[in-house]
Amino acid sequence: MSNVFPSLLSLIGETPLVEIKNIDTGLCKLFVKMESHNPGGSIKDRTALYIINQAERSGLLKPGGTIIEATAGNTGIGLALVGILKGYRVLLVIPDKMSLEKVTHLKALGAEVIFTRSDVGKDHSEYYHNIAEKLFKEIPGSFYADQFNNPANIMAHEETTGPEIWQQTDGKIDGFVCASGTGGTIGGVSSYLKEKNNNIKIYLSDPRGSALYNYIQNGELKSEGGSITEGIGSSRVTKNFATAKIDGAFSIDDKESLPIIFDLIKNEGLSLGTSSGVNIAGAIRLGKELGPGKTIVTILCDKSDKYNSKLFNKKFLQEKDLPYPNWL
Ligand code: PMP
Repeated sequence: MSNVFPSLLSLIGETPLVEIKNIDTGLCKLFVKMESHNPGGSIKDRTALYIINQAERSGLLKPGGTIIEATAGNTGIGLALVGILKGYRVLLVIPDKMSLEKVTHLKALGAEVIFTRSDVGKDHSEYYHNIAEKLFKEIPGSFYADQFNNPANIMAHEETTGPEIWQQTDGKIDGFVCASGTGGTIGGVSSYLKEKNNNIKIYLSDPRGSALYNYIQNGELKSEGGSITEGIGSSRVTKNFATAKIDGAFSIDDKESLPIIFDLIKNEGLSLGTSSGVNIAGAIRLGKELGPGKTIVTILCDKSDKYNSKLFNKKFLQEKDLPYPNWL
């Protein structure tokens, strides 16, 4: 038998790297890592698997236990999948601005979902992290995945995503760009790549409304504007983001990233989630900074199917004064 796998879990990782040739990438050779190939449809399956495996090893998660997490959706989907295969209850706290598609997917997988307000900050009792922490204290036999602080999240990318990028490019990589939600991807990948070659430039691509761009550029947590992207950007520096080895940052407006998403559909047949547009916009900007012919790698975290109700909703986009696909 060939190409046969013992379970869905062994399909996590080893995602393809694809060259983008049919959109204007400026001066760089642009390669993208197709994380939608993971079974839960996003990069966060890697994090979910590493966090659960580590919790089992350390004894923090016991057979039949409850996994609790604060999530924008994708980590929740990963945890729900791993939870099914390993027999855990999964309880997730999600801010109410996240797309209906991700929530429907989670419920279909049998995860329990608690919605909370998106418009409250980290000191408010209804902030999604604070609710998750409270549930963890209240529910016996529960485990808090805590992807923003849990080092297993970083390890997932230091041991899998980073080495895959290095091998797939034969070490011929000049720059790596990606956005940060928990900081797991940029933390783990930057540590691995800088260890291999300290000259590789690592840049953060940050959506408007996030404070991380100003933090990297000026050392000050300050934000302006907003974004319809999900799962990226932050108003604070979490433990995992703090580990990232970052050379610089770009602030990306939805008006810059959305046309890239629409061009990728029309010219490459790639229909991607909102954070992928921010990542590609940042990669193109880094290509311009580094000069002609440099090889830049970025991450395509998930696909547009998780955001159809926003990305292909002309009324929603028009109301926000954002570009929409001209074929809608
Ligand atoms: N893009 C999407 C769509 C995500 O769901 C996430 C995770 N929140 C990220 C990017 C950012 O990844 P990380 O948490 O590793 O920083």
